[in-house]
Amino acid sequence: MNRETYPNDSEASRLLGVRINRDAKTVLFPFTDYFIGFDKVEAVRSIFGDKTREVLQNLKVEFFSSKFGYMGVSDVDGHLMVSSYHLSKSDFRVLYLDIIHELYHVKQFMDGRELFSTEFEYVDSPIEIEAYSHTVKEAQRIGMSKEEIIEYLKVEWIDDDSHKRLIKSVGLATT
Ligand SMILES: [Zn+2]
Repeated sequence: MNRETYPNDSEASRLLGVRINRDAKTVLFPFTDYFIGFDKVEAVRSIFGDKTREVLQNLKVEFFSSKFGYMGVSDVDGHLMVSSYHLSKSDFRVLYLDIIHELYHVKQFMDGRELFSTEFEYVDSPIEIEAYSHTVKEAQRIGMSKEEIIEYLKVEWIDDDSHKRLIKSVGLATT
């Protein structure tokens, strides 16, 4: 159905006999209440430099309960969004790397870069390739094997071809 069938809210409200309060509040928590010590991580310090502590102290996080999607950064105000399901269930190293990846996006947002471009597919987006490249370096540093990293890059919303392209883009291609 055309989502704009009704010309305005008050008419739709009258016709359908319901009201919808569109002013939903997002509950934000301090990043540092949940993710502690990241200001000491070199892979984070290399993103924000001298501003690392300040940025992390000001960063806010929103939790959502969906099983789908793990983490993201708001392209409106740069806050972090984390699936509480992912947070409670995922491997510690996966969460650690996801945070590094998302903090990279926070910096891109601060630099005024457009996080979600329709110009590229997810794995071809320079925004994602930069964030993944940075994260893969950290994965190697913490001792993950190439196979583990390749598995880490296999997120369910990308197909095998895209997964292969991503592996290549971040310098992990075997062939
Ligand atoms: Zn990303």
